Amino acid sequence: MSEILIIEDEEAIAELEKDYLELSGFGITIENDGNKGLELALKKDFDLVILDLMLPGTDGFEICRQIRQNKDLPIIMVSAKKDEIDKIRGLGLGADDYMTKPFSPSELVARANAHIARYQRLVGSNANNNEIIEIRGLKIDKTARRVYIDGEEKTFTTKEFDLLTFLAQNPNHVYTKEELFRNIWDMESIGGIATVTVHIKKIREKIEFDTSNPQYIETIWGVGYRFKI
Ligand code: CA
Repeated sequence: MSEILIIEDEEAIAELEKDYLELSGFGITIENDGNKGLELALKKDFDLVILDLMLPGTDGFEICRQIRQNKDLPIIMVSAKKDEIDKIRGLGLGADDYMTKPFSPSELVARANAHIARYQRLVGSNANNNEIIEIRGLKIDKTARRVYIDGEEKTFTTKEFDLLTFLAQNPNHVYTKEELFRNIWDMESIGGIATVTVHIKKIREKIEFDTSNPQYIETIWGVGYRFKI
């Protein structure tokens, strides 16, 4: 059974979400407090977190950030304020989905199903060394050499594709520009590392919601880049 953690301080809303999700066959845990919710999300393995933004204790922003640093499980952020949702989307915190309260419970169930299915494909594909890499909204089909963002195909040059795939296959590993150049361009990196910077910039323009605050390829100042998972 897929397990969902609901972090929501409004108990009536949490109970309503629980009822609908349980009817759909999910196992549900509710935490009404941000600190406890964060602790549980990090300690136990859930398949999805439904995360309210405004919470007593640690707020949803910080919970999302800390879960994302440690885990790749899907997060649906919910808030009663549309402008708050727009703001957090812009911050690129790494939530997989955003919903404005009040939402229909059936909509929540549909999205929970979709995100859990995607997550389980990702976990499964890592185990099977599948030719598809899916991380949040990014999908890389290594066999067809195609890249999609939120289902929309983006055109990549050969080297852009190779660089993105190399980074995505080795998430959380920090690579210097020299290492990336040697791996992708397959020659000594004399005078070549500026090429890496140019390619990273072009890749970001295609895959990032906000290139000044990248969700996927992070710049490690003075060192290089890493792909965040
Ligand atoms: Ca709240």
